[in-house]
Amino acid sequence: MGLEVERAEGVYLIGPDGRKTIDFISGICVNNLGHGVPEVVEAVQQQAAKSLHAMVYGEVIQSPQVQYAKALSDVLDDRLNQVYFVNSGAEAIEASLKVAKRFTGREEIVTCHNAYHGSTHGALSVSGNPESKKGYGPLLPKVRHIRFNSFEDLAHITAQTAAFVVEAIQGAGGVILPQPGYLQAARDRCTETGTLLIMDEIQTGFGRTGSLFAHQHFGVVPDVLVLAKALGGGMPIGAFITDRDIFSVIQKDPVLGHITTFGGHPVCCAAGLAAFQKLQQDRVLERIPRLEKVLREHLQHPAMVELRGIGMLYALQLNSYEEASQVRAEAQCRGLLTIGFLNIPDGLRMCPPLTITEKELIEGCNILKASMDTLQ
Ligand code: PLP
Repeated sequence: MGLEVERAEGVYLIGPDGRKTIDFISGICVNNLGHGVPEVVEAVQQQAAKSLHAMVYGEVIQSPQVQYAKALSDVLDDRLNQVYFVNSGAEAIEASLKVAKRFTGREEIVTCHNAYHGSTHGALSVSGNPESKKGYGPLLPKVRHIRFNSFEDLAHITAQTAAFVVEAIQGAGGVILPQPGYLQAARDRCTETGTLLIMDEIQTGFGRTGSLFAHQHFGVVPDVLVLAKALGGGMPIGAFITDRDIFSVIQKDPVLGHITTFGGHPVCCAAGLAAFQKLQQDRVLERIPRLEKVLREHLQHPAMVELRGIGMLYALQLNSYEEASQVRAEAQCRGLLTIGFLNIPDGLRMCPPLTITEKELIEGCNILKASMDTLQ
């Protein structure tokens, strides 16, 4: 993109020359509260002054980890009571796959075409874009891909399947929402076959869709919930959350089933907890329906094929890769940052901070419309 960012404040990325760019990406669903949140900065500074790395995760008790795990489980279903912190989304997916195999004693994993779950070997194996796997084989065996939103394909989840790994909303695939009842049907099929439902909410967590977590919006409780991105309030961290009984399979025989030196780093936990508390205290979620309305009203243009999404997570669908690239580049020149998708060439991703003001949102929409005008 060639955009140098020296600092960032609120909804703006700021270059060394002081030029401001409206951030319509939030570091890809990371900075849900915008940039430079004082409470988060203060939590980082205070924790850094107290202690950085004390010991490999889990060996000693560190209060930011315990407090954050408790705060997360407090807002989740009773069955999501054990939080295990790691370093990233991909690592959380890796660990979840291990837990599912151990817990069920099965080897097969079912996942979706067009999915993205990360770039490490296991996470890439369960991702659904064949292009991104070229030259990296062999990947994990016994991984079967089914069509997201196909009720019929759920029949491929059987008594041989350890886990069905699914995004609540396909993110990198172009913000594809589940059909009404699809996630519930997946839940039912998993329960019927004794398969663990692993739900990837790495992109959809922490208010992005208008609910705290998207599975709560769709009324489905997964067996394993996978989080990262906004989990750290801007610091690197991931987590998987499950039931104690399920988690316990990697605690014994042998012990230490998922060792991670920096997992749950105390500074990252302190930052994440501060962001999570602010998200709740400032009632940020209450703003989302209004922001959604403003976006839909102000972002209309004949060049648009579709505006797809929910809450503050959207795909602006254009006609071709060339059109999407031109609009992205034009918008950047005019002071707005957006980005394409990994799995679809002709869309632009929009996920501004949830704290964006209506005025800033309208300004962003106007820049996008002016950029689309250049297509004619
Ligand atoms: N799953 C989803 C839905 C994602 O969007 C991403 C990252 O974009 C990942 C997994 C991987 O997370 P990380 O980049 O932290 O490894």
